[in-house]
Formats: sequence, structure tokens, C-alpha cells
Amino acid sequence: MNKNDGPDPILEYTYPIEQKFTRCPNCGNEDTFAARELRILKEHGRAGEDARAFLFGKRSIVADQRNPMIQVPMVAAEFDVCVECGTMYATRVNVTLTSPQILQGGSVPNRQQRRHPGNLLGGN
Ligand SMILES: [Zn+2]
Repeated sequence: MNKNDGPDPILEYTYPIEQKFTRCPNCGNEDTFAARELRILKEHGRAGEDARAFLFGKRSIVADQRNPMIQVPMVAAEFDVCVECGTMYATRVNVTLTSPQILQGGSVPNRQQRRHPGNLLGGN
């Protein structure tokens, strides 16, 4: 019996949580390299209107394995580089709930990740 048995505390919150950052925190410019290249592709019909681009993504599961939970929060962030001053910053942060099974045996790539191994966040 776990001393923390009871309602899962994170279930009180509403997920997913998404926050976008549309300006460079250093110079205020709104353009980033990956977004600019994707915009050019879209202008020439070489990318779908719903396609997204970013330099790289990172994600992390927030949990303490000593406290079993039904679902655990996963924070994912996309980063890009400002075309004006070169500052790298998070352009989008997303918090979702995921199964804690992913904690067992390390990271288990989902179907999207197996198809696009270079893209951790599944953007395209
Ligand atoms: Zn900048």
C-alpha cells in the first residue's frame, strides 16, 4: 500500500497545456530559421498549410517512480533560432499526460517517432 493512495493529483488539471512564444526574447524579432524555410516551401506549394517546423525538440517526463501514478506529465518543447540575432529559444511548449509505462525500460518510441526518428515531437 502506497502512502499516497488516493486521487491522482495531476488529474485536477486540464491537459494539454500549450504555450507558444512568437517573439525572440532577446530582440523581439518574430522570424526563426526553420519557420522561415517552411514558409518559403508553403509559398511554393511544397508543404501543407498545417505543417510545422522547428530546429529540434526535447521532451521530458516529470515523475518520481517511487510514487506510482495512473498518468504522468510530459513536457515537450520545440526550439528554433532567431534570424535577426541568433538567439535560440523555445517557440512552443506543450504539456500532456502520458502513461508511466514509458518510464519502464527507458524511452519507448511511439509509431510516429519510429517513422521520423529525427523528430522527437512528431512535427512535420
Ligand atoms: Zn533575436
